[in-house]
Amino acid sequence: MRLIIFGGPGSGKGTQAKELCSRLRITAVATGDMLRQAIAEQTHLGRQIQPYVEKGELAPDEIMIQFIQQRLNQPDVAPGWLLDGYPRTAFQAEELDFLLDELNQRLDRAIYLEVPDATLLSRSLHRSRMDDQPDVIQRRIQLFHDRTLPMLEYYERRGRLLRIDGDRPLEDVHHAILNGLGIAL
Ligand code: AMP
Repeated sequence: MRLIIFGGPGSGKGTQAKELCSRLRITAVATGDMLRQAIAEQTHLGRQIQPYVEKGELAPDEIMIQFIQQRLNQPDVAPGWLLDGYPRTAFQAEELDFLLDELNQRLDRAIYLEVPDATLLSRSLHRSRMDDQPDVIQRRIQLFHDRTLPMLEYYERRGRLLRIDGDRPLEDVHHAILNGLGIAL
């Protein structure tokens, strides 16, 4: 299965992505985690994108598109994948479609975890990641509204969007996602 999961910072998408991947035996491709690791290791990519991630800004599309192209060409993701945190802009979404055409792959569903901003903020403040400082979180929420939410329509029009109320206990959200994907509990 090939899936995308969307949600603001603190929406629980990382946790849900991990649960889903172990249930469906597919690989999670979490761009945020990979970028934070690249920064920690100070790789070439890490140094390039560090200023953006630290401020809660989006890394440049060209870098992200190239990054995901390399990742989805690796053999471990051939059986299926779940993209967590990608695409985040309309341009990334369009480019992802071109890439999937090239790979002869098809996206099954785009899952949107709907969570009110107040919940996003309070959940993010309880984490202690480098990009979870209050002003940085506000910026990430704002960018989610400005750049990522408009993209939902792109998937809605193609009949791929699955909206899930993410403002509930983890287990309930997990079950709602499985149910929406038509997978028996
Ligand atoms: P996340 O953990 O998914 O919230 O991502 C953390 C940070 O990584 C974001 O605030 C961005 O700076 C960067 N990032 C992750 N994915 C993307 C993407 N698809 N496009 C641009 N920047 C990204």
